[in-house]
Amino acid sequence: MGDDSPLTSKSPPPPSTPPPVSIPKSASQCMTPSEISTHVQFMREALSMADLALQTSETPVGCVFVHRGRIIGRGMNATNRTRNGTRHAEFLALDEIMRARDGKKPRYAPETLRECDLYVTVEPCIMCASLLRQVGIRKVFFGAANEKFGGTGGVLSIHVGNGRKAGDGVEGVEVEGGEEWERWHRDDYEVSGGWLREEAIVLLRRFYVQENDRAPEPRSKKDRVLKLEVEPMGEEGKMGDGSAS
Ligand SMILES: [Zn+2]
Repeated sequence: MGDDSPLTSKSPPPPSTPPPVSIPKSASQCMTPSEISTHVQFMREALSMADLALQTSETPVGCVFVHRGRIIGRGMNATNRTRNGTRHAEFLALDEIMRARDGKKPRYAPETLRECDLYVTVEPCIMCASLLRQVGIRKVFFGAANEKFGGTGGVLSIHVGNGRKAGDGVEGVEVEGGEEWERWHRDDYEVSGGWLREEAIVLLRRFYVQENDRAPEPRSKKDRVLKLEVEPMGEEGKMGDGSAS
């Protein structure tokens, strides 16, 4: 629509205009708009998996693995359905990738994961952070920090040196740049947190309100009003945002 249109100033934005999204501060400084939009797009795919989890009464966490610009695996939390506390979104997505076949042959070689980036709505827990290290993930983009169980900066930093720091090993062998140091850091991966963080948190809150409604003795209405305001993200370094890069 041109500037001369009398409707321009009064019309609401067209429905296709995406709502403002939360992205890490560092991203707006060091990424091009096109790179940012790609990451946002994949994070939306992860959020739609989290939404699916919510609809089936699972803690709403979702993820996608992206290889050369294409999603090759999707996962959502399934711990309630399977009654198995290890069925986190990341494990389910990896299962999908490893099970994929072309005829009788596996579609993806194990090395494929070394060229993969993970988009996950909540920071990977310590277990998943270790799994990602073992499969050699390249980079992890996450939404909300996981202050209770986070393995990429929330509680431990498994993505850097498998959580070890200089001084943790035998004295003298873990010198920065030394052989032992190299071994510690061989499978390090980059982490960037805060992508669509608010959307991820709102899904989690919806879940807790929904689950409380199902509880035999729901908490009072006053306590379970859905809080949609999200406090701004704390210190980015603490969130593991780019700190490993
Ligand atoms: Zn996990």
